[in-house]
Amino acid sequence: MKICDAHVHLGKSGPWQPYMHPTIYVDELIRLFDKYNVEQATVFPNPNVGDKYPETNDYIAKCVKKYPKRLIGFGRVDPRREDAIKELNRIKNVLGLTGLKLHPMVECFRPDHHFFSKLFKRANELSLPILFHSGDGFSSPGLILKIAKKYPKLSIILGHLRESTVSALKEYKYVYVETSGTLPDFIELSVDVDEDRILFGSDVPYYRYPTQIAIVEAAEISQRAKKKIFFENFQNFLSKINKGLKC
Ligand SMILES: [Zn+2]
Repeated sequence: MKICDAHVHLGKSGPWQPYMHPTIYVDELIRLFDKYNVEQATVFPNPNVGDKYPETNDYIAKCVKKYPKRLIGFGRVDPRREDAIKELNRIKNVLGLTGLKLHPMVECFRPDHHFFSKLFKRANELSLPILFHSGDGFSSPGLILKIAKKYPKLSIILGHLRESTVSALKEYKYVYVETSGTLPDFIELSVDVDEDRILFGSDVPYYRYPTQIAIVEAAEISQRAKKKIFFENFQNFLSKINKGLKC
């Protein structure tokens, strides 16, 4: 089955999880895509807060230029930094990237705190979709939904589908979920809510294609739903983003 992948890290590793050696450069990544039938993916830097995101965003832009049909570039910023808005503008207007990846735990920020309103206001003006790491604490889907509901042009993907993410999918119709690190059971529950808002995600190179693909394959859902999750929903998501629609 053809695959689109909503969650891929690309480039040099940051100081996090050094035991996992997550550095991966673009030609190696494309070889992996070819091996596992991945036609297209959203790619963004590894976690690397502080002043390193601009240079890692530059690398993503360079890779997208080299493989424009395979890669959809998302940039990263450290929302706590004074120059976060400047980098947000540069991601869209200079580097021509499509979206933003945020990780409230790694970047240590509470999404609904008023300090970060200006960042989301600007992302909304730029119509930049955001893939949020979701999970516990600052990354809980409940906090992220507050942002999704507040800004009319912000499209949000909740990464790492789990129980609380299924509830978010049910609660708000303008939010997508992504499957990296999930379990077949959560995919089945999400399909019962809305099979059109589930995207396949691998979180490569932290997770691996054989396991992440097998999780979706193991879900007891229709072949039609699998096709949507692996490919069609991502294409629909992209086409809405390209038209500037909230999805
Ligand atoms: Zn990730």
